[in-house]
Amino acid sequence: MTVTIPSPVDALHERLREPLRHFIGGEWVSAQSGDTFDFHAPSDNRLLGRAASGDARDIDRAAQAAHAAFPAWRALSGKKRRALLYRVADLIEARAHDIAVAESTDTGQPIRFMKSAAVRAAENFRFFADRAEGAQDGLSLPTNGFLNYTVRQPIGPVGVITPWNTPFMLSSWKIAPALAAGCTVVHKPAEWSPVTATILAEIMHEAGIPAGVVNLVHGFGETAGKALTEHPLIRAIAFIGESRTGSLIQKQGADTLKRVHLELGGKNPVVVFDDADLSRALDAAIFMIYSLNGQRCTSSSRLLVQRGVHDQFVEQLAERVANIRVGDPLDPATEVGPLIHPRQFEKVCSYFDAARADGATIRVGGERIGDTGNYVRPTLFTDARNDMRIAQEEIFGPVLTVIPFDTDEDALRLANDVPYGLAAYLWTNDLTRAHTFAHGLDSGMIWVNSENVRHLPTPFGGMKASGIGRDGGDYSFDFYMETKNVAINLNGHRAQQLGMPGNKEN
Ligand code: NAD
Repeated sequence: MTVTIPSPVDALHERLREPLRHFIGGEWVSAQSGDTFDFHAPSDNRLLGRAASGDARDIDRAAQAAHAAFPAWRALSGKKRRALLYRVADLIEARAHDIAVAESTDTGQPIRFMKSAAVRAAENFRFFADRAEGAQDGLSLPTNGFLNYTVRQPIGPVGVITPWNTPFMLSSWKIAPALAAGCTVVHKPAEWSPVTATILAEIMHEAGIPAGVVNLVHGFGETAGKALTEHPLIRAIAFIGESRTGSLIQKQGADTLKRVHLELGGKNPVVVFDDADLSRALDAAIFMIYSLNGQRCTSSSRLLVQRGVHDQFVEQLAERVANIRVGDPLDPATEVGPLIHPRQFEKVCSYFDAARADGATIRVGGERIGDTGNYVRPTLFTDARNDMRIAQEEIFGPVLTVIPFDTDEDALRLANDVPYGLAAYLWTNDLTRAHTFAHGLDSGMIWVNSENVRHLPTPFGGMKASGIGRDGGDYSFDFYMETKNVAINLNGHRAQQLGMPGNKEN
């Protein structure tokens, strides 16, 4: 007898025959309204599956579950939380290939990058697991006659709202530190890519995370997302998404005084000086905008090149961009896959017209590919100015805008002259220039002579319209925890005496 083991792709389609459900209080449940929404495969826009469409009632149920689970979860020792989070990481690794297939199918991100995204998610869980025991640690701040010390304690149930670009990795980036800190979670993933959030909930359940500690509610931003930001039992919202939505989240959370952490958009410069290692700079500039379909917040979407090396650099760049392999996201050879959704596809394509209208040159690409799926040709705009829409707005696709500059002052002015301030990349071998320029940049993260290489203890986050707050290492715990100061008097000093006998005569 031959036993046929279904391929991960077949297995995914098989499981998506049933609508994805919410995970609340340790149970898989449909939306209370009974409604579902459809989601589609970016490669051909055919129906991929359906998910429960959450509204305020589902969010309330999940928030109540997170609230009920909080006292026991926060009381669990850091050691036990660490062990559970390690188990989550192990299970993620064991299912890394299935996760990668699901993520590629659901988002259009090439499988070559999604394999490492699952592994990075496991790393996030292990990294914060290792810090669970020390999360409550504070400072000792003694002064004359007083011992002051601080302790941290988890803020309570938190809402996590995630976007559709690399959703599995980004969910782990928020959920792992929240759980390590002792918070309980209600997660609302993006409606365009709900599949791997479901797998993550399954894994956490299987790992033994107690019922109610992590809850998942699918649905739209305007309904489920909004209700989460407004729920009185939810103490904080960790959000990753567009700057416009970040601003809405602040407004929605105002009545319940939500603490918010916003990781938002970017229009990140890569600045190439004429003394740089141009060959490495070329590889990095290409990688940072054309990997992950250009749908990454830290993508280097503006290339500022010093005039002396501009033509030579752009020549080589154009040749490489024209060679980028676009195709089926599940094909390991694919470098750029389809964009997530027809709306995002139309948005990216609209910039081809904007570039022409504003007088830039479309040196490579600038066109759709085929009639099915959301495929665009990797695109290079040259002869651009920094005031053009292609240089100011976050396009979030495999699209790069090149602008020449003459002096360091010009480069710094151009680099900072956008609403965003998330990441920047500098290419120079001049040590003084690198430091001076880095200090002048309005960017939360700067890489010198490198693409984005993450080190988890370092702060991750942006300035200006790119966000509020930082993630990573202890910065994450500052968000998910309250810091309390305890002041103990040691010298028996006495307060000023009010209301003493004899006062009234005055
Ligand atoms: P989005 O803002 O449209 O949606 C993000 C999430 O917010 C989704 O789950 C959505 O349902 C929800 N949402 C929408 N409206 C809401 C509302 N009124 N209240 C509550 N929730 C609401 O973003 P997107 O298009 O899914 O993602 C792309 C964006 O994310 C880009 O701008 C990108 O730069 C940004 N991003 C930033 C980082 C970072 O670390 N800074 C990382 C990844 C992505």
